[in-house]
Amino acid sequence: MSDNHVEIWNKCLSVIKDNVTPEGYATWFAPIVPVSLVNNKLTIQVPNHFFREFLEENFIDLLRTVIKRFVDEKGKLAYQVVVDSTDKQGIMTLPSSNRGFSKNPIGQPPAPERLSQVPMNPFVIPGLKKLQIDSQLNENYTFDTFVEGDCNRLARSAGIEVAKNPGKGSFNPLVIYSGTGLGKTHLCHAIGLETKRLHPEKTVLYVQAEQLYTQYVTAAKSNNRPDFINFYKMIDMLIIDDIQFLSGKAGTQDVFFHIFNHLQQNNKQIVITSDKFPSDLQGMEERLLSRFKWGLTADLQLPDPATRTSIIHEKLDDSGIVFPDDVVQYIANNVHSNIRELEGVMNSLMAQSLLNKKSITLDMAQQIIERFVRNTVKEVSVEYIINIVCEYFKISPEQIVLNTRKRQMVQARQIAMYLAKKYSNASLSSIGEQCGKKDHATVYHACKTVANQLETDKQFKVMFADIEKKIALP
Ligand code: ADP
Ligand code: MG
Repeated sequence: MSDNHVEIWNKCLSVIKDNVTPEGYATWFAPIVPVSLVNNKLTIQVPNHFFREFLEENFIDLLRTVIKRFVDEKGKLAYQVVVDSTDKQGIMTLPSSNRGFSKNPIGQPPAPERLSQVPMNPFVIPGLKKLQIDSQLNENYTFDTFVEGDCNRLARSAGIEVAKNPGKGSFNPLVIYSGTGLGKTHLCHAIGLETKRLHPEKTVLYVQAEQLYTQYVTAAKSNNRPDFINFYKMIDMLIIDDIQFLSGKAGTQDVFFHIFNHLQQNNKQIVITSDKFPSDLQGMEERLLSRFKWGLTADLQLPDPATRTSIIHEKLDDSGIVFPDDVVQYIANNVHSNIRELEGVMNSLMAQSLLNKKSITLDMAQQIIERFVRNTVKEVSVEYIINIVCEYFKISPEQIVLNTRKRQMVQARQIAMYLAKKYSNASLSSIGEQCGKKDHATVYHACKTVANQLETDKQFKVMFADIEKKIALP
């Protein structure tokens, strides 16, 4: 082994030095000891696991750049962690995660005067001279792995358009809404990743509304509201997932309103997901809701069996495991609640087959699905279903159980009965009892009426699907 690794590491350090603050350099790079360079793999020794994780989290792009430049285009980095420096045995070698580039480019956007205070923000990485923000994007959630179907065509293609021309088109904001497990989070990550791929100079940030809220509360407590706003104003594409979380949180809504206006006026892209159609979000300021309407609102619906089949194939390709055709068809035809559940069934099947060292059979699939469905059903109570139906029709649960013959009430009650029969374990009499003290014959009649209407009335079918989708459990 030559001492080449020392020389190469010194070259790396010279570039690193230019890209981090002196404190960052002293803390995170000075303690590193180069160990070896074998087959284009540079091994460096770091004091502990935390240290390695911090480097991986915060400086991986910089490290990759220097490795590429001074080791090899395909050069690799490995860490040796000193478990106990007095014990020569206590050394572990770990590969770099070799993760892709989900970090934003160093050195942009232009920092406002107050930026020196911004590192209060958890997304800002300390130790770097210039602002670098972790996009928080999951690299597995790409457009490539997001199967297209009738259920998502509009939202998907709008997403691709937004990634091509962020902030420029009329899809600003792009609001994606759907029930749980139907791909909102996946799609908005895909938009962020594609934007970064096509426009590496843009700063993209994915935030869950809950994070935005917590962060805002912390900022407000320490009188850092202006910094908080300034930070968000610097983003080129802001993705807020699960905006419904901000319902009733007036302070965060207010601050988001300012950020929203600023970004939109400056042709910065905003992407929002919601578990409801925006106008149905309760506890949300009207001025925000009206702004959401300025762009495009697109929903993700339950996938049809053909799309479910494609999704299963996509997941299988990814895992390298093969399911027999009849198993694929069986799953596609029998798991309809949402895509997360489809994945759950597939994962259970794979795990079972691996654990029992048996190949995957139709029988196994049937058992697992039965168990899954039974488990799901167990958690659905009649009361839960009544609440969902009432929420949809904007009536109160007390109203639905009253003996009124008003058309909308009757319809809501019948739908609730039908869904309760389909999803709960309750008997017809018990459903009747809970839906306004009706007898089992009334429930039976209601179920037949709804089934008939589903077959004959297209509009009713669409409305019903909308309600049913809300029952899907996470
Ligand atoms: P939501 O945010 O709407 O609750 P997620 O985006 O978390 O749903 O999706 C749940 C799971 O289903 C994820 O693992 C996601 O990758 C997968 N999924 C959703 N839609 C698709 C699709 N069209 N193609 C492939 N996988 C999908
Ligand atoms: Mg989600």
